[in-house]
Amino acid sequence: MSRPIPAALAMLAAMAVSILLPRASVAQPLSPAAAQWWADVSALADDANQGRMTGSPGYMRAADYVIGRFRKLGLPPAGTDGYLQSVPLVQQIVDQDASGATLTGTSGTQVIAVGSDMLITAGGGPRPGSVNAPLVFIGYGLHLPGQGHDDFAGIDLKGKVAVVLGGGPADISGAIKSNARYERNRGLAQRGAVGVISLTTPKQVEILWQRQKLLARQPGMYLADTALRETRVPFFTATFDPEKSQELFAGSGHSFAELVALADASKPLPHFAMAGRLKARIVARRSQLTSPNLVAKLPGSDPRLAREYVVVSSHLDHLGVGAPIKGDSIYNGAMDDASGVAAVLDIAHRLATGKRPRRSVLFALFTAEEKGLLGSRYFASHPTVPKRTIVADVNFDMPLPLWTLKSVYVPGEAESSLGADLRAAAGPMGIAVVPDPMPDRNVFIRADQYSFVHRGIPALFFKFGFAKGSPEFDIEHAWRANRYHSPSDDLAQPGIHKEDAVKLDALVTAVIERVANADGRPHWLAGSIFGKK
Ligand SMILES: [Zn+2]
Repeated sequence: MSRPIPAALAMLAAMAVSILLPRASVAQPLSPAAAQWWADVSALADDANQGRMTGSPGYMRAADYVIGRFRKLGLPPAGTDGYLQSVPLVQQIVDQDASGATLTGTSGTQVIAVGSDMLITAGGGPRPGSVNAPLVFIGYGLHLPGQGHDDFAGIDLKGKVAVVLGGGPADISGAIKSNARYERNRGLAQRGAVGVISLTTPKQVEILWQRQKLLARQPGMYLADTALRETRVPFFTATFDPEKSQELFAGSGHSFAELVALADASKPLPHFAMAGRLKARIVARRSQLTSPNLVAKLPGSDPRLAREYVVVSSHLDHLGVGAPIKGDSIYNGAMDDASGVAAVLDIAHRLATGKRPRRSVLFALFTAEEKGLLGSRYFASHPTVPKRTIVADVNFDMPLPLWTLKSVYVPGEAESSLGADLRAAAGPMGIAVVPDPMPDRNVFIRADQYSFVHRGIPALFFKFGFAKGSPEFDIEHAWRANRYHSPSDDLAQPGIHKEDAVKLDALVTAVIERVANADGRPHWLAGSIFGKK
């Protein structure tokens, strides 16, 4: 956030520029690609679409717009019903006010303020009606015996609620830790745990607790198919205000502050039985619904390889209409992820008007990403083309074109041969490939590419690069703090670098062309944990 320049000074500066650089000072019109990209973002994130909530009329209006664009690009449908693939879902709304909880410890019973200090989350699978269980602290909650780290080892989880803290050992890669977090609830339930409370250190907080409280009132969703849920049985899941998390540790011989210091330093955490017993009553309403993924294809040029597919994806849904912030209740999701849908459409245009790649390309726009990657998970387990014909996925979810594109970070690039394709394409464009600046943020499992990775398909996830301590770091941080998952991620936000957004599309197009034209399919690198799935 820069300081305002005094008006007179700004005028002088503008005059100087106009004298020295009469042509450059005139605002350049956008290139056709950038203009179309912005037109698509604008149409999708328009207030008329009411934030594109999964299952809503606004989502369907956005879907109709995308189908119109697919038709204009001459791309044939590749869903199960034209461009559509209907995804069966269950919606769950946790009534935080009607639910309640107490913690009974060495100094008696205290009430936990549900909806304020503790939020019962609504996704992943059904919540139980009640829980009455002792608490056990299991550190980071990461089950990684292959990496010499196992927070489940030697702990009796049966009938317990596990308490975990975000983060993990520094010497284990972010992708591997992310994978373990994704599998965590399933593993805990299999070992007999009845629930989990996830804690974060104040430094790990991305969405301020004040906003998280509002978001907890939104409906959660999970797939109707029990096999595709986080847990097959009802399972309690909750988060706790970092400011209040110490309450859970009273009488345990450990303080939250001590554990925070260890986690922020990526040091080993102790495991211990906590003094408290949690009793909770959970009031939730559930209903069935469906919402479609959208799929189009560009047929490949090679008679044999055209039977194989490279998937380009992003998500069409966002958070809908919710609690108003500064008088605005529409969560437009302009960057999250209208920008990614517009990128997929831009890439479709580039590929459809260029030299046709040998393999076919699928353009997949998923529903219910914000509800836990549900549309992509459904697609990856029920693909609209034979599963073994999908050779790779490249995904866009908030690439964040908020500065000049000089570098990209691409979660997944260290795991498969796609990393070499990325570097070969980025080099000639003068774009550097940099490491994930915030590996503990878990982005690898927090976007739709992960549904493909989970099914053994190599994937990449594209983001504008930045480094810790750089001005871009501050821009990114401020954007997350102020706009991420809030109504101000809208079309009025300043600082969107439209030409740089489509420059990233050009890079990803080049990556897709390399992959789609290669004789062999992409493969996992030796040593990647994802290759064994
Ligand atoms: Zn999002």
